[in-house]
Amino acid sequence: MTTVIAIDDKICTGCQECTKVCPNLAIEGLPHQAQKVDETKCVMCGQCVQKCKSYVSVAEHGFGAYETVRKERGLPETVTEPLFAAHNVCHLDEVLRALADPNVETWVQSAPAVRVGIAEDFGASLGTLGAGKLAAALRRLGFNKVYDTNFAADVTIMEEGSELIHRVTNKGLLPMFTSCCPGWVRYLELNYPELRHHLSTCKSPQQMQGALMKTYGAKTQKTDPKKIYSVSIMPCTCKQYESGRPEMADSGQRDVDVVLTTRELAYLIKLKGIDFLSLPDEKFDLPMGDYTGAAEIFGVTGGVMEAALRTGYELITGQAIPAIDIKAVRGPDGFRTAAIQVGELTLKVGIVTGLKNVKPVLEDLKAGKLDLHFIEVMTCPEGCVTGGGQPKLVLDTDFQAAYEARAEATYQHDRELPVRKSHENPSVKKLYDSFLKKPLGEESHKLLHTTYCGDPKHHH
Ligand code: SF4
Repeated sequence: MTTVIAIDDKICTGCQECTKVCPNLAIEGLPHQAQKVDETKCVMCGQCVQKCKSYVSVAEHGFGAYETVRKERGLPETVTEPLFAAHNVCHLDEVLRALADPNVETWVQSAPAVRVGIAEDFGASLGTLGAGKLAAALRRLGFNKVYDTNFAADVTIMEEGSELIHRVTNKGLLPMFTSCCPGWVRYLELNYPELRHHLSTCKSPQQMQGALMKTYGAKTQKTDPKKIYSVSIMPCTCKQYESGRPEMADSGQRDVDVVLTTRELAYLIKLKGIDFLSLPDEKFDLPMGDYTGAAEIFGVTGGVMEAALRTGYELITGQAIPAIDIKAVRGPDGFRTAAIQVGELTLKVGIVTGLKNVKPVLEDLKAGKLDLHFIEVMTCPEGCVTGGGQPKLVLDTDFQAAYEARAEATYQHDRELPVRKSHENPSVKKLYDSFLKKPLGEESHKLLHTTYCGDPKHHH
């Protein structure tokens, strides 16, 4: 397995902040001694990277002093911030090579949470929305197409919502779990493989977008899919692992070639001397950059559920949802439930945020004590806005403030977008009319769904 998360034993002081936060007890070591990540247990969420407090100072000693460390991590020489013991491995070199190669079409997508995090790395206040500047920066960096994971988040709702309706009306296996968080999927495969069929068969938005870029995108842009190099910008350290899972190649190529985190995109923007905060606001490229408010809230806990309910309600009842802000599913609590009236059906839903909170829910399910139709699970404390690849927060007091500000910016963006329901995204409608035909159809099954094998040892 290629290493995603590691702890540098020469830098680690054994403060064990990482151990406290690890959701799968994957960090071993005695107090005040160097800690080690057990890769067979690690779900790669990167929360240890966020919380690590042991570092060496590049500003003080210069990069020369830490050249080996830099090389091991794949970091460019321009990074001047402290090097913390817990880190993820960066793939910036591969992206730079692709961008410099005139024979390669470099296409990019960015996840919803990136746009409420990236500006922080340029000194903007916590949770500043930077969607337009993000699109502009990616264009200045030389990406040939600047697409958006949010487009695929809308597609995910079409597929996952239809799958839920199918399971509910055909007495399928319930509750259905969301499958868009790879840390959660890996946790389930490692610890509760017998429950894996509860996972939706949908791929995550990143993987749907990757598969669509090299098929639908290649077709609409008249580009040879073999020439496309697909890059994802993610708030998440686990997405690199997800993109490398063997089954994620249904386009005939790797659906996603490489992943950069929000932090690493900031390194790249700085490396190229782009003044992020002075950029104009630009749009993502059509057709796969068109998105709704429902897609944007995927970045916050409860967001996938709310987006699914907005669409599910209208597909089932044929009527407009009376209140589009479904506050019953919002909030920071680790496990919360709600009953939503959808026509004749009382849909019982659950939301888990912070992977440590999922164990009792799964135990209840095994004991037959859980009466729910649909459960969203996110690994990170309050969803992807708090992901392991987001800008690193140094002060303890910043964590809660950042979480709240990023979530609020996400909801604000949702409120301001002209279309707020996935099934009303005009570019998604066009995708179904001209290519996929219908949710859960033949083409969707081939490109957008998968089976979780339950044995993560087979994934490397
Ligand atoms: Fe990645 Fe989001 Fe899951 Fe965290 S909650 S592991 S950022 S997908």
